[in-house]
Order: sequence, then structure tokens, then C-alpha cells
Amino acid sequence: MSHKDSEEKVSRRDVLKTAGASAAAGCLAGGCAPGGSASPGQNRAPGQTPASEKVTGSRVVTHRVVSADVVVVGGGMAGLTAAIAAARNGASVVLVHDRLMLGGNCSSEVRLHIKGADGSGAGKKTDARESGIIEELRLEEAAKNPQRSYSVWDLVMYEWVKREPRILLLLNSHCCGAGMASHDRIGEVLVSRPGTEDLFTVRARQYVDCTGDGRLGAEAGAEFRMGREAQSKYGESMAPPAGRPQAAGQLDPHDHPPV
Ligand SMILES: Cc1cc2nc3c(=O)[nH]c(=O)nc-3n(C[C@H](O)[C@H](O)[C@H](O)COP(=O)(O)OP(=O)(O)OC[C@H]3O[C@@H](n4cnc5c(N)ncnc54)[C@H](O)[C@@H]3O)c2cc1C
Repeated sequence: MSHKDSEEKVSRRDVLKTAGASAAAGCLAGGCAPGGSASPGQNRAPGQTPASEKVTGSRVVTHRVVSADVVVVGGGMAGLTAAIAAARNGASVVLVHDRLMLGGNCSSEVRLHIKGADGSGAGKKTDARESGIIEELRLEEAAKNPQRSYSVWDLVMYEWVKREPRILLLLNSHCCGAGMASHDRIGEVLVSRPGTEDLFTVRARQYVDCTGDGRLGAEAGAEFRMGREAQSKYGESMAPPAGRPQAAGQLDPHDHPPV
């Protein structure tokens, strides 16, 4: 490789890294992961090994190994609160999220309101509120985001995660596989971040599936079902009498006949 080629290769990769740090705000690209590797249980931030070999079948994708106490896959409300809670309790955490911003269904991409406990807003019927980290976020948003801009809300969630030094945040990163340590224990997950041409193997003691639709469980070979179960399945009086195939968000032709 000529000197010029080498310069071009380095600069191309640097450009990708810079773009990854600013657009995806990935910690590895932005340099917020500590150097060297850390083993699970060391009560510190996750560690990564130095970039290792190129991935078989690709001349450009780099394989990296990251270890932590906890891996959370999916950065919606479930995932980001799980990651923050684990970090506050001393665990090193890798939070893997396949979108550019956190929040899942309540991010600026989808824009659902968080209203599980209280039914807040015009239809408020109770004084109950979400508590814990959700309430922290909502109080912060009340102070910082009086215009209720969803882009500012994205930043509030991002800031809350980035305040935790034990969390390594991998945005724009898709969990696409799981390696099993035994027949019923996950040993590692495979994560692809095409925007920076990186492939990660992430190892941890605990794996948390917050993908909203159970992708990690499915990758691990767990049994699953889809749709709405019948009352009889779990003895739930408010479930429909008969099971139906629709998942959350899909209109049910029984309730919404075609017009
Ligand atoms: C149509 C509809 C309307 C709703 N309306 C409301 C409402 O008004 N108020 C309310 O409180 N609730 C509402 N809900 C329910 C609410 O959206 C869910 O309860 C909530 O989003 C669940 O949060 P979550 O973090 O589990 O999942 P999600 O919000 O789905 O977050 C999971 C995230 O994981 C990411 N992910 C998935 N697979 C991978 C992978 N392989 N690798 C990396 N990341 C991955 C996804 O991109 C997603 O962003 C509604 C749901 C639907 C479908």
C-alpha cells in the first residue's frame, strides 16, 4: 500500500468515526470508552479490546470485543431505564440501540406519550404517576422543554444516559445474533454498526432484552408466541375471549371493521 493509499484509508475511517461520534454519538467512536479491556464484575465502565482482525468476508469491517456486567439490547423506555438503574447499582453496562436517538416508541421518531400509570393529559383520571427514573426524566423535561419539542426530549433522554459513566452507549447499533454459553444461557451477543464499519462481540453476565419484540430472546432460541392470547391462556378476564394474531399497534378487524 502506498503512503497516499494509507493516508486515504486512515482519513476515510476517521471521517466515519467522527460521523459516528457526532451523529450516532457512539461512545467508542467518540472516545468515551476507557482504553484497555475490563472484565465483568470490576465495578467500572465497560472495556473494549483494541480493534482486532477484519471480519471474514469484509475488507473494511473491524471486529471489536467489549465486556461488561450487563448488556441491554434496545434503548426504548424499558432499556434506557434498565441501563441507568444497573449503572447506578455499580454495574458496567453496554446499551445497544439500533436507532439514532433513544426512547423507542416515545422518541421524536414515533412520538407516543408516556402515560402508563397516570393517563396524563386531557384524559387524566387518576393521581397515579410513573415513578423512579421515568419520573426523573419527566421532571427534567418539564424544566428544560416547556415547548414540548420532541427533539429536546430526545436530548433529555440522551443526557440522562450519558451522565452515567458506567454505560457504554452504542447507538445505530443492531443486535443481530446471540452465542449461547449453554443451552439456556446467553454467552455473547453480536452487534453490527454499519455506519462506522464495526462489528462487536459483547459479553456480559446479564443480558436484558428490551427490544420491544423479543429479538434477543428469539436469537437465543427462547420459545415465543405472537399476537393476543385468549382469556383462557393465562386466566385473564380482560383478554379477548378468543386469541387473535394482531400485535401491538396493529388494528384488529374485529374492533375496526374495514369501511
Ligand atoms: C400504536 C401504539 C400506540 C401506543 N400508544 C401509547 C401511548 O400513547 N402511551 C403509552 O404510554 N404507551 C403507548 N404504547 C405502548 C408503548 O409504546 C410501549 O409500552 C413502550 O414503547 C414499550 O417500551 P419498550 O422500551 O419496551 O419498547 P420500544 O419503545 O419498542 O423500544 C424498543 C427499542 O429497541 C430497539 N430495537 C429493537 N430490536 C433491536 C435490536 N435487534 N438491536 C438494537 N435495538 C433494537 C427498537 O428500535 C426500539 O427503539 C403504544 C404502542 C403502540 C404500538
